Amino acid sequence: MTATPSRVLVLNSGSSSLKYQLLDMESGVRLAVGLVERIGEETSRLKHTPLTAGGGEAREVNGPIADHDTALKAVAGELARDGMGLDSPELAAIGHRVVHGGMFFTEPTVIDDAVLAEIERLIPVAPLHNPANLTGVRTAMSLRPDLPQVAVFDTAFHTTMPEPAARYAIDVKTADEHRIRRYGFHGTSHAYVSRKAAELLGKAPEEVNVIVLHLGNGASASAVRGGRCVDTSMGLTPLEGLVMGTRSGDVDPAVIFHLMRVGNMSADEIDVLLNQKSGLVGLCGDNDMREIRRRIDEDDEEARLAFDIYIHRLKKYIGAYYAVLGRVDAVVFTAGVGENAAPVREAAVAGLEELGLAVDGELNSVRSDEPRLISPEYARVAVAVVPTDEELEIARQTYALLHDSASRND
Ligand code: ADP
Repeated sequence: MTATPSRVLVLNSGSSSLKYQLLDMESGVRLAVGLVERIGEETSRLKHTPLTAGGGEAREVNGPIADHDTALKAVAGELARDGMGLDSPELAAIGHRVVHGGMFFTEPTVIDDAVLAEIERLIPVAPLHNPANLTGVRTAMSLRPDLPQVAVFDTAFHTTMPEPAARYAIDVKTADEHRIRRYGFHGTSHAYVSRKAAELLGKAPEEVNVIVLHLGNGASASAVRGGRCVDTSMGLTPLEGLVMGTRSGDVDPAVIFHLMRVGNMSADEIDVLLNQKSGLVGLCGDNDMREIRRRIDEDDEEARLAFDIYIHRLKKYIGAYYAVLGRVDAVVFTAGVGENAAPVREAAVAGLEELGLAVDGELNSVRSDEPRLISPEYARVAVAVVPTDEELEIARQTYALLHDSASRND
C-alpha cells in the first residue's frame, strides 16, 4: 500500500547557505531540520537533526561543499539515512522560500518554466536573494522533476497593500519603468504571526488589527487590518525601515548623493555601507542584541546610544502604524530579538500608555516558546510575543496549494 504523500520539504536557499526542514502536514510533526553553511568554501558544514522517535541526535558533516547542487544532494543523503529520502513516496512536495515575487506573485505558486523566468526577471530588484533562491529551486527540480515544487514568496503577504502605502512619491513614469514601489519582505512571518496573534486573542484574523514587529537580524514592521497587510516598513528592498543588525533602515535619500559627491563613494560602496556596515553594527560594532545589552550593563555609552536609536525608530513605526490602522488590538513581537529581548519590548512601548499600550514586567520576563500576552490586564491594547515559524508557514501554504488544486480538479 502506498502511503498518501503528506510530507513537505521546505528549502530556504541563501547565497552561501541552505536551510531545510521536513514536516508531516497530516500529523503536524517536524521530522528533520538542518542547515548547510559556507557553501563554496573549504570549511562548509552540514548539520542535520532527525526529530523522529528514537532520533534527535544531530549529525555534522564538515568539509568543502562546492555548490547548492552538492549541498542538496548531501542533504538528500542525510534524509535517506533516516529513511526519509527525496525518493520517498510520502514526500508530497518541496516548498521553496523565494524572497522577491514582485507584483506578479500574490500567492504561493507551483513552479514551472514560466515561473522560473519571472523569478529571474525580478533579479534586478533582489540581486542578493533571488539568484540564490533560483539555484535551490533548479537543483531540487533536477533531483525530483516529477514532484510539485512550490514557491512561497516573502513579498506575497504584502501585495494587499493599498496604493497610497505601496507607492513612493517619485515621478510615476520613472517608478513604473523601473518597477520601483514598496514590496515589503518577511511576509511569511508577518502572515503567520498576525494569524497566531488573532488566535491568542480568541478571535478570527478578520476581526483584529495588529502591528507585527519582526525583529531578527533583519527587521520589519507591518500593519495588518483584518488579516490583510496595509503597510510595511521594508520597501523596494529589505533596506528600508527599522534599524537592523547591519542595515541602516530609513535614511534621507540625499545621504546617498552626498556620499557620492562629497565622500567620493561609488554606488556599490554605499550599498555595502548601508546594508552591511550600518545599523547596530555601524553604531556600536556589535549586531547581537545580547552583546549590546551586556555592554549597556557595563555602562558602555556607545552601546547605549545604539540601543536608544534602535528603540526610537521602533517606537516611531508603532506610532505610525497605530495611525494607519486607527484601532489596534495587539502589538506583537517576533523573531530573535522580538522573542527573546525583554528590554527591547519594554523600551519600545514605554511611555505609550495614552495609546493603551503597556508591558507587565513580570509577564515580560517569562521565557517561553509559546505565544503569550505580556500586557497587564487593564491595557486596552494587547502586547504579545509570538514565536515565528516561517518554515511551518511555507510548508502549510505549499500543502494547502496542492490540496486546493486537487479539489479544483475533482
Ligand atoms: P535572522 O533570521 O534575521 O538571521 P533571527 O530572527 O534568528 O535572525 O534573530 C537573530 C538575532 O536575535 C541575533 O542577532 C540576536 O541579536 C537576537 N537574539 C537571539 N537571542 C537573543 C536573546 N536571548 N536576547 C537578545 N537577543 C537575542
